Amino acid sequence: MAATMRAWEVAAPAPIEDGPLRLVERPVPEPGAGELLVHVRTCGVCRTDLHVAEGDLPVHRTHVVPGHEVVGEVAALGAGAEGFAVGDRVGVAWLRHTDGTCKFCRRGAENLCPDSRYTGWDADGGYAEYTTVPAAFAYRLPPGVGDVAFAPLLCAGIIGHHALRRAAVPPGGRLGIYGFGGSAHLCAQVALAQGTTVHVLTRGEEARRLALDLGAASAAGPADAPPEPLDGAILFAPAGDLVPVALRALDRGGVLAVAGIHLSDTPPLVYERELFYERELRSVTSNTRADGREFLDLAARHGVRATTTEYPLSRAPDALNDLKAGRFPGAAVLVNDFS
Ligand SMILES: [Zn+2]
Ligand SMILES: [Zn+2]
Repeated sequence: MAATMRAWEVAAPAPIEDGPLRLVERPVPEPGAGELLVHVRTCGVCRTDLHVAEGDLPVHRTHVVPGHEVVGEVAALGAGAEGFAVGDRVGVAWLRHTDGTCKFCRRGAENLCPDSRYTGWDADGGYAEYTTVPAAFAYRLPPGVGDVAFAPLLCAGIIGHHALRRAAVPPGGRLGIYGFGGSAHLCAQVALAQGTTVHVLTRGEEARRLALDLGAASAAGPADAPPEPLDGAILFAPAGDLVPVALRALDRGGVLAVAGIHLSDTPPLVYERELFYERELRSVTSNTRADGREFLDLAARHGVRATTTEYPLSRAPDALNDLKAGRFPGAAVLVNDFS
């Protein structure tokens, strides 16, 4: 193994057009106690990476390497790392540490742990030739899904699944999906496989076509009213002004789940029109490892597939630029072309 590797780090957060990412040569990281060293094969590009690069999220680690949808191969084990062997295919996702002792962890809500830490924000992630992950937070990947197709499932898929559960659509119910990028198109597949009627509301001709191809009952613009009242809705677009729009589209007792880690400010809500009749507004925060395993099982069982656009790792900033501009449907995936 080489002693150094190439990695993209956030030199200083700035609008992506101004080039906040910088390609650097760094030592290959040493896996710490309980950690795996992972040779990156692919890394999905998540909107959160854009928020990290642009500074919408506060800096948790200076010069952090983004990327938290990694499919790779175990290259070495740190002291006491268990459950994996060198050569195993492994998935590295967003959540990488919880304390296991707080009241949230003890009641099965480790996504709310105040001591949680995240790949590509608190620790260096997958926009690099190598990364590390605590073995206890690494995912074992089922065979049969390729490295490119799998990457977006690891954050976009898992978070979308958690958001779908937060939206609490009853069996046979009607779900509205606002925004139709990486996470949404995976979430829609699970909802459809479970017999839910899906209405997609999004900008972008191509995204609407993809929604209909996947089996959505309708696809329209984000400001349009869906053809029938919704039992649940998920807001994937990071646009706070869609919150009242989506709340008004809910039927009595409907739930709106906001899936993003970042949302522009919401306008004032009009109680009678947007919240009364027990409509609920909920946020979605990360996921538990149990959510992750449940989604990966469902995805394998129902053949959930990411629509992907490949970029070489050497062109990671282009992928982020194109994500911001909405230039591709589905999810971008970086393929390690360095090693
Ligand atoms: Zn905790
Ligand atoms: Zn993500």
